[in-house]
Amino acid sequence: MPDTTLRVCALYPDLMNIYADRGNLLLLERRCAWRGIGFTVTAAGLGDSIDPDAHDLFYLGGGQDRDQRLCAHDLVETKRDALHAAAARGALVLGVCGGFQLLGHSYQLGDEEIPGAGLVDLRTVRDEGGDRLIGNVAIEVDLEGDGRTRLLAGFENHGGRTRLGAGEEPLGRVVRGHGNDGRSGFEGVRRDGVIGTYLHGPLLPKNAWFADWLIATALGLDDLVPLDDTLEAAAHAAARRAAGV
Ligand code: GLN
Repeated sequence: MPDTTLRVCALYPDLMNIYADRGNLLLLERRCAWRGIGFTVTAAGLGDSIDPDAHDLFYLGGGQDRDQRLCAHDLVETKRDALHAAAARGALVLGVCGGFQLLGHSYQLGDEEIPGAGLVDLRTVRDEGGDRLIGNVAIEVDLEGDGRTRLLAGFENHGGRTRLGAGEEPLGRVVRGHGNDGRSGFEGVRRDGVIGTYLHGPLLPKNAWFADWLIATALGLDDLVPLDDTLEAAAHAAARRAAGV
């Protein structure tokens, strides 16, 4: 058994995995394995409770409105308190697209308000009249808060427009694409270890450096053994080119 193991909890992997977001988990697994770091993934579906202390990273992918609705009510009833406890003790929570929307207070679909986990102060409204926000996207992020920015590149496709509460920080600033609402220039959300983003792609295979940041942060490691990232660098470069940056 390896000394160190990244323990991931995949929330609703069958329902919330649009755009092959499962590739995000595969990439984490491979990058851990190549370094001799153990990796476990525990699926938590409808009705399953979760142990806030048993995982280093909770992952919630994107989904169609219909599946998102199903998961939202279950999330609030069976998992919300545990997720709050996990975030409070420093576990990472990563939500992509529909998963990002579910980290907030609500997702308004016409007259219907779909609840969220309330881990961060944000609300999403589905603009029935407006276009979906679709396309390649690049955002500038400063994960350490020291002014050294890096780029995340990916693809977005969402009908929801997300507005952050006054005290909430975005994950990054839009360089190309629409971002949270097509207007604010904000993309995603970051409150300590709780991170949400609209970037699919999947996100991590296109941004291996971010996967490594997640692994290191989740495990409290200062450095990770470098890998031969020729293919990952090519994937990142292709995503940037697609976004025009
Ligand atoms: N259902 C959400 C929306 O359209 C999220 C879609 C997604 O995860 N791609 O806004």
